[in-house]
Amino acid sequence: MQNLDAFKELLDSPKKVAITTHHKPDADALGSSLGLAAFLKKKGHEVSVITPTDYPVFLHWMKGHKEVIIYNQQNEANSHKIISEAEVIFCLDFSSLHRINELGEKVRQSSAVKVLIDHHLEPEDFADFTKWSTKAAATTELLYELIVEMGEENYIDKDIAECLYAGIMTDTGSFRHPNTTKNVHRITAALMEKGADVSKVSRLIYDTSSLEKLKLIGYALSEKLVVLKEYNTAYITISAEELSRFNSKTGDTEGLVNYGLSIEGIVFAVVIIDRKDIIKMSFRSVGDFSVNEFAKKHFGGGGHKNAAGGKSNLSLPDTIKRFEELLLQYKEKLNPHIKKPYTS
Ligand code: 5GP
Ligand code: MN
Repeated sequence: MQNLDAFKELLDSPKKVAITTHHKPDADALGSSLGLAAFLKKKGHEVSVITPTDYPVFLHWMKGHKEVIIYNQQNEANSHKIISEAEVIFCLDFSSLHRINELGEKVRQSSAVKVLIDHHLEPEDFADFTKWSTKAAATTELLYELIVEMGEENYIDKDIAECLYAGIMTDTGSFRHPNTTKNVHRITAALMEKGADVSKVSRLIYDTSSLEKLKLIGYALSEKLVVLKEYNTAYITISAEELSRFNSKTGDTEGLVNYGLSIEGIVFAVVIIDRKDIIKMSFRSVGDFSVNEFAKKHFGGGGHKNAAGGKSNLSLPDTIKRFEELLLQYKEKLNPHIKKPYTS
């Protein structure tokens, strides 16, 4: 971070701090928010964490979860008050203010000192202090580094270490994606030295599914998976009726997109879900095909080169039609061997 000394000075005396993160927080978003909140509380600050929406139950074990304010009608006024009274606002794991819905404008208007810690592409220039790198696998990796740069890693206890580890574990796909660097492993080792129980965190996040969630996955794979070999693409669509038939909860469809990508030869996988108010899309790729570009250009979204999200205002059938039509433009990028017959 540039101006590290000024940043340290800012946090040297107790402040009113607000921390916020992106829509439907994942383990990196919530882990960085609650890890930072616990760290700042230990330093004597008054800290509130506000999330734009709820988040999956498999993150409820994180220390500080019970104090999180989920921005909705009931506590809209309270959230606005916290944002307007904050002296420092941290924005974690997102790169532009529109990602936090209506809260974004409140943050923009606030006179608080703003701090961005993030690893998404194309950050908006709104923060006074920035710790940003797309080379980082997770926001929690950057947060760990920042705490070390500040010379304050002695504040990291077991609870904080487990929040930070959760972000690294999930954003690297359990140390499988190309973002799994030596640095990631070094930081993981340091977090284990601070007491992080990595096996426990893995079990709490990945192995606490409801039966309904598993049945939805089974149904999606057997009935809803479409493989377009000529595009090396696989996609799954889920209607609003199907979500309610399987009593789907926040987080139940997280990771579904990876099944498509696990098919041999597939380089582009998509999940399209009708969330009633909006059609939400998840994009994943392996190799050179940039899903960030695809999501940004066609579906008002973005993210990372190999993992991005977006949305559509069309109906589900029209979104599927549009998606399939778009693939035509990318045929050669998705299948460089297009002129040869597909061999599988
Ligand atoms: P997911 O598919 O898991 O929801 O998101 C994949 C990645 O893309 C995450 O890093 C997430 O923050 C980002 N992302 C998801 N949806 C959007 C979106 O609508 N806009 C932008 N800019 N990024 C998104
Ligand atoms: Mn992240």
